[in-house]
Amino acid sequence: MFNPLRSLIALALGGALLASSGCALKLDVPSSDESPRPGASAPRTTGSPQPADAGGPTPSKPINEAELQHDIAAAQRVVDAFWRRHWSDHFTGVYRSPRIRGGYDGNNLAAAPTCAGQPAAKFNAFYCIPEDYIAWDINLMRAGYAEGDAWVYLIIAHEWGHAIQNRLKVNLVALQKELQADCLAGAALYGAKADGILIFEEGDVKELSNGLVAVGDETEWTNPRDHGDPIERITAFGRGRDGGVRACLPKTAGA
Ligand SMILES: [Zn+2]
Repeated sequence: MFNPLRSLIALALGGALLASSGCALKLDVPSSDESPRPGASAPRTTGSPQPADAGGPTPSKPINEAELQHDIAAAQRVVDAFWRRHWSDHFTGVYRSPRIRGGYDGNNLAAAPTCAGQPAAKFNAFYCIPEDYIAWDINLMRAGYAEGDAWVYLIIAHEWGHAIQNRLKVNLVALQKELQADCLAGAALYGAKADGILIFEEGDVKELSNGLVAVGDETEWTNPRDHGDPIERITAFGRGRDGGVRACLPKTAGA
């Protein structure tokens, strides 16, 4: 995936407003899990051997760190540009970009951002509601990126989906929050494609579905903390892809 209008968009976002919201803390990871199991947006490990001190699975292939950083930056610009452009198509008020705290090192959590005093988790990506920022373990990005660049777009678009939820009236936020975030990710990435600010390359669609499988729960959705199983996640993402933002909102909301 790539963004053909890079400099243009960067310019347009120069004056992005920052703000924080006052919602209760909800890190994007199941808090009852004591293991560093990737919760929200992390791939399942695939059984590859892991050094004891690794920050998750070792990338299966060598990655180009400069290209990774380039794609992470491009994904932020593309997703933010989509929401900035289309917010008022669906919602009232003014769109505000979430803050980006960016990549932290899951092997050095002491230096990672905290969310309302709670430490970040290893090998995870999350949206911090009370401080309105998105952050990720860079090792999570590296591991997924080894399988294809679409991974970073998926992770960032999903976490951005949580930031969008935090900006919506409560009746527009689905009980199935994680699946709604997947739906909003599909709406944003394919909406950006339709706008011509994101170009899909060969393999990207397959990488997106592989990514959704990797972050799926073992069991289907039963409560608000679940992410849904792989089929549910792919279905939710596809709903946003095909129907746009509106298809991600609860039917009863009358948005
Ligand atoms: Zn999530």
